[in-house]
Amino acid sequence: MKFLEKFESYAARDPDRLAHVHRGGQITYGELARRSDALAVFLTQILPNDRGPIAVYGHKQSEMLVAFFAALKSGHAYVPVEASLPIERIRRIIESSAARCVVSVAALPSGVEVEHIVLPEELRTIITDADGRRPPAAAHVTAEENVYIMFTSGSTGEPKGVQITGACLSSFLDWATTLFPIPDATRFLNQAPFSFDVSVMDIYVALTNGGTVFSVDKAMLSNPILLLESLQRWKIDVWSSTPSFAELCLKMTRFNTTQLGPIAVFLFCGEVLVPECPRALRERFPQARVINTYGPTEATVAVTSVEIDDTVLSRPGPLPLGRVKPDCQLEIVDETGHRVAEGERGEVIIVGPSVSPGYYRDPDRTDKAFFVTPRGRAYRTGDAGSVVEETLYYFGRIDLQIKLRGQRIELEDIEANLNTLPYVQRAVVLPILKAGRCEALVAVVCGDADQDVDRIKADLGARVPEYMVPRYIEFRADFPLNANGKVDRKRLRALLDASVGVDT
Ligand code: AMP
Repeated sequence: MKFLEKFESYAARDPDRLAHVHRGGQITYGELARRSDALAVFLTQILPNDRGPIAVYGHKQSEMLVAFFAALKSGHAYVPVEASLPIERIRRIIESSAARCVVSVAALPSGVEVEHIVLPEELRTIITDADGRRPPAAAHVTAEENVYIMFTSGSTGEPKGVQITGACLSSFLDWATTLFPIPDATRFLNQAPFSFDVSVMDIYVALTNGGTVFSVDKAMLSNPILLLESLQRWKIDVWSSTPSFAELCLKMTRFNTTQLGPIAVFLFCGEVLVPECPRALRERFPQARVINTYGPTEATVAVTSVEIDDTVLSRPGPLPLGRVKPDCQLEIVDETGHRVAEGERGEVIIVGPSVSPGYYRDPDRTDKAFFVTPRGRAYRTGDAGSVVEETLYYFGRIDLQIKLRGQRIELEDIEANLNTLPYVQRAVVLPILKAGRCEALVAVVCGDADQDVDRIKADLGARVPEYMVPRYIEFRADFPLNANGKVDRKRLRALLDASVGVDT
C-alpha cells in the first residue's frame, strides 16, 4: 500500500525522526518500522495463510502503532480495542471480529478466549529482539483488503464492525493531505482513542508525511494541569480533535498561543462545531486556521471540509460542514429515497471510494445502510442535511444515534443492554439537550422501582463503555405509547420535563 511505503521511506531516510510521543514513551520512525517488521514476521509464523483480522488491545502506547503496522505488513486488518472498555464489550468485539489473535499491549483482563494472545511481556521480547527480518511486500494488505475494522455502537446492543479497505484509506489520505500545508516534521496532536476514527486523521496523515504524533491519554483528560503541561511542552502545529475536547481546553485560561505556541491548524471532526468554539480559538490563537470536517466511520473519517474563517463566522445559523472531497458525491434524499431539490433537507447519502464495503460479517445491517450505485458504493448516513451552493449543512439525526462529548452512541444500544438486566422490564434512554447538543443521558426504567440507581449504573457499566452509562436514572410504572404501539419518546420527554424538571 502506498501509505505504508510512504512511511517506510521516511523510516529508511531518517530513522531517528520521532514518530510518536505519549506520556512516558516515544518511538522513532526507524524503531516503528523495525519493530513492526519483527512483529509482522512473528504473526506470519503463528498465523500462516491467514489474512483475517487481528485485535490490538491497549490505549495510547507506541506499541499500539507497532501492532497496527505489523498487522498491515503481515496481511491482516487490525481491530483496535480500547483498554478502558468493560470485559463484556471487549469479548463481544473480539468475538464479532473473529480475530484469531489478540496483541495485548496492555494487560488483557481474563475472560477473552482466542487462539493466540500475545501478552505484553512476549510482545516486548518480540519487538526488542528485532533481527532485521522483514515480511515480503507481497504479504502486505492490498487495496481491496481491510486495513482496519472499527467497532461502533449498534442499535441492537451489539457493536458494528465498520470495514475500511486499503483503497478507502488511500482515498481519504490523498484528500486529507491537501487540506492544509504539512511542512517537514509537523507536530500533530492525537486526542481521539485509536478505536475512534478521528485518530486516523492524525496518525496516518502525520506518519505518511514525516510528522510526529503526540497522544493525549485518558489520565490527562481528567487532569487539566498535566494536560496543559504536556501541551506546553509539545508545541503542536496541527491540532486534531473533536470540538468537545477543544471546548474543554478553552475552559483553561492559559490555553492560548503564548503558552502553547503558534498552532497552525485546528482540525475538527466527529460532532457539531458550534460557532463559539472557533470564535474563541481565533481570539486565543489568532494565527491559526480552523477547519471543520464531517463524515461517519463508514465513509473513512471525513468526506467534507470547510475553513471556518471570519467570513463564515459572520454568517448567521449553524456552521457549514463544507464541500465533499473530489472523488465522492453527496446526495440528499427524502424518505422515499428520491433526491430533493437543492437547498431542501433530507438524509445525507455519501457515494464514492471512501465508503466502506459494509459491516464485518453482518450482511443484514450492511444491506440496510449500504447500497451500490453506478457511481460507486453508497452509505445512508442517518444524518439530516442540505446542500446549498455545493456546501453541506447539518440538521441532526433522523434516528436515535447521538454524539456525547464526541462519542458516537446509539441510544438503543444502551436500552438493549439495560433490558438484559433481570430487574429491568423496559428501558428508554433520552438525550438531555442544551443548544441542540447532547449534554448527558437519562435512562427511564420501567421495572423494579426499589432498585438502587448506583447498582443499575454499575450493572450497565459492566456491559457498555463508561460514556454510555446515563448520568440520570428515572423510574416509571409505564411508558406512553404511540399509535403503532411503540414508546412515544416525545411524550415521554414531555412527561419527564414536567415531573423532574429535566430540560431534555
Ligand atoms: P463517527 O462515525 O463516530 O465519526 O460519527 C459520525 C457521525 O458524527 C456523523 O454521521 C454525524 O452525525 C456526526 N458528525 C461527524 N462530523 C460532524 C460535523 N462536523 N458536524 C456535525 N456532525 C458531525
